Amino acid sequence: MSFHCFHVLRQRLVLRSMRAWPAFTSPTPVFPPAPSRALTSLRRPRPRVPTCSATPSHRGARGLATRRSVVPDGTVHPLKADVSPGAGAEPCATVPVDDAGRVLLKNMTLLELERWVEHDMGHKKFRARQLWRWLYKSDKLVATFEEMTDLSKDFREMLKDTARIDAIVVDKVHESEDGTKKVTFRLDAGGVIETVLIPTEGRTTVCVSSQWGCALNCQFCFTGRTGFRRSLTQGEIVDQVVQAKRFFEQGDMGRVCNVVFMGEGEPAHNIDNVLRAIDVMLDTKGLDFSHNKITVSTSGLIPEIKRLAQESKANLAVSLHATNNELRSWLMPINRKYPVEELMQTLRDVFPRQAARQQKVFFQYVMLKGVNDSLVDAKELLRLTAGVPCKVNLIHFNSHEGTEFEASDEGTMLAFQDFLVKKGMTVTIRKSRGDDKMMACGQLGKLGPRQAPRMKVPGKFEHLVKARAA
Ligand code: SF4
Repeated sequence: MSFHCFHVLRQRLVLRSMRAWPAFTSPTPVFPPAPSRALTSLRRPRPRVPTCSATPSHRGARGLATRRSVVPDGTVHPLKADVSPGAGAEPCATVPVDDAGRVLLKNMTLLELERWVEHDMGHKKFRARQLWRWLYKSDKLVATFEEMTDLSKDFREMLKDTARIDAIVVDKVHESEDGTKKVTFRLDAGGVIETVLIPTEGRTTVCVSSQWGCALNCQFCFTGRTGFRRSLTQGEIVDQVVQAKRFFEQGDMGRVCNVVFMGEGEPAHNIDNVLRAIDVMLDTKGLDFSHNKITVSTSGLIPEIKRLAQESKANLAVSLHATNNELRSWLMPINRKYPVEELMQTLRDVFPRQAARQQKVFFQYVMLKGVNDSLVDAKELLRLTAGVPCKVNLIHFNSHEGTEFEASDEGTMLAFQDFLVKKGMTVTIRKSRGDDKMMACGQLGKLGPRQAPRMKVPGKFEHLVKARAA
């Protein structure tokens, strides 16, 4: 084997082991140092439990070797369910279970489910594939084991005693004037997350949350204000899509065709579970989404952008919102860790993404009156993005209680767009949806007793903030 081959093989093995059964606890928040410490002290990452040692041939697409027992609040504990390995099976210490010891089916990939059904439940592998179809096929998406009519009665009884279908429970449905719906879902160990369904011309886009709250404290975002509570599990992410399809696809909403990771949380901050959830959404035997109908939006965590580009075919969108470090570090504190030039260089390296056939990165740029909406900013945006194949999406700022920002007026947005279009860029203006009921971009979440602190305002913007506060 040549050195090159050896190197590639070694890298692949390292990657696989990194992605093996994901961290259900949140990664240590990367930024902002002071606020994130305060926020994450609400729930610290738990220590990892020992893993079983399956051989590579037993691993699923994202690895089975390090399966751990988790409860839905993201904590980890030893296996509670009484599952014994089948004959000839390699013992695996744990499977994902909830607080009551029920196996969380939606926290598994198909390969993991097959292994569990065959080795732990003592049934044939094809039963797992049947089960998978009942969980994820558009015409099925069932909520009870009784509905799984092609499974034998004894297998259904076993499943009823041992496992659980839904990872989250619908709490309330809110509807906006423009037809947008916000569904709040209850999490097992308390807490509520929000998912938004946006109907457009007979189709629906589901905007999913990847975390409960968010640690990144972007100053214009209400979710950032709520602070970070915890990362969602794979099942809790996937179930937002499953239940959106189950409850709304038949009604007035139209077929769920697109999934965007633009709800609560920073997806890159929960990268393992997000990657696994995407794998489930793409599986042709189940939800069967096309990879270009799934978009992951990130505020710019460089290592995770690289991982997403390498390990997933989903579209990548990057929240830019400012064109220089001074402004961006105020609006988006993550910029202090990953400055905007480094971010741009990473995107130049990554795009166009051959494997995903994504030619351009989608930049999102929220327009804040007097802050980032001048033609000087437009010019800077042009300079900064030179060499990055991209499309720019200008976003109307959706106001919320306590914010120091105001939305740019329509004329300013059009002039900004016009300037860039004349220079050859592709620029669209995204219409706000559901802003009358706090379900638009940057409006999700609920304030708790603790809130993320405000960042220091750069001198040249102090007058704006003061004028707004007066
Ligand atoms: S914009 Fe996104 S990353 Fe920033 S605080 Fe809001 S949810 Fe978090």
